Amino acid sequence: MPTPPPEDVPWGHQSRHYASLETGRADVRNDGLGDIERRWGHLVRAAMPKAREEVEQAFRQWNGIVRDQLRNEMGLRLSVGGEAQSVPVRICDGLPRPLAAALQEFPDWEWLMLHRPDVEATVRGAQLLAHHYDEARLTIGDAASMAPESSLIEVASSAKQLLERFDKLNAIKRIVDCQEDVLGGYHFRIPEVRLYWVPISIVSRLLGIPVDALTLVVLAHELAHAYSHLGRDIDGEAWNTNTFANADMAIVEGIAQFYAQVICESLNMRFPAARHAFEILLAKQSGAYTAYRDWLDSTERSGEIMRVAMIECRSRNSTSTADFESMVDRHRQQVKGRPGRARSGVAATSFDSSSGVQ
Ligand SMILES: [Zn+2]
Repeated sequence: MPTPPPEDVPWGHQSRHYASLETGRADVRNDGLGDIERRWGHLVRAAMPKAREEVEQAFRQWNGIVRDQLRNEMGLRLSVGGEAQSVPVRICDGLPRPLAAALQEFPDWEWLMLHRPDVEATVRGAQLLAHHYDEARLTIGDAASMAPESSLIEVASSAKQLLERFDKLNAIKRIVDCQEDVLGGYHFRIPEVRLYWVPISIVSRLLGIPVDALTLVVLAHELAHAYSHLGRDIDGEAWNTNTFANADMAIVEGIAQFYAQVICESLNMRFPAARHAFEILLAKQSGAYTAYRDWLDSTERSGEIMRVAMIECRSRNSTSTADFESMVDRHRQQVKGRPGRARSGVAATSFDSSSGVQ
């Protein structure tokens, strides 16, 4: 089994699955993980026969809207004058390597992972029936057809024990928090965005969130990578590809997470499930995926501060998180006209998307 790259490996290091130039699918066949990839492909198709279609529909529905929002919030364009940089989105089969490796650790729990919401509902449903046992029996009108109250309590207890055993393995955290994008990928050397419909389906079941909402979160995150890399500023400049690839994980993932959150919040009236999905996913993430919450808080003009810090980071070819954080601090002072905030570790949970660049 390959060792996952440590967090201090640069974002676009060649060991990352999205640094590959291979086209078309998440390829784990050369890592001895092909069996698990095929197995999960079959399992997800059987448990969630419409999942791929749901991912495709969500992509079609939100692709243009997400791109418009990114252009507005970042102040960057993929096309300048007659020159256009295309970044297509592909819906792909397969499992990225880090996720395949994580799934391989829990071979006895595949069925529960794909049906966790049903097992949770069983606990609640059996408890509800036991609580209203006499009323239910009267309503049915035939006492013989009603299971004994003790059996309902046993069903609830068994389902609850299963969930508790599963949760003790910390499997959800291990699978969701791979420290590398595994639900989608921005393959920056091609360039193209890939949405991995099997991982999106698995994680939607693990976290109890809708497939279309999680698809929007992943689409916004991956397109934010693409726009932050290739989007042209008013001087026509983009992020040098080698510098982008050598940047610390926290910078590149922090920018993508920030803008994915801004987009989910701005679409909250139209699609509240997306913001909910972002928050549920974020609660299971750590490291480079959550560090950005310490950079800014909801009372500040966070969109403007982040945008100018990102432009400066690109133009100065900075790759270190410490440098980027000092840029954020300096721009905060300029925007707000007040000293930089001490890093208290208090995480912001919300950003004011209305403060973004108009
Ligand atoms: Zn990412």
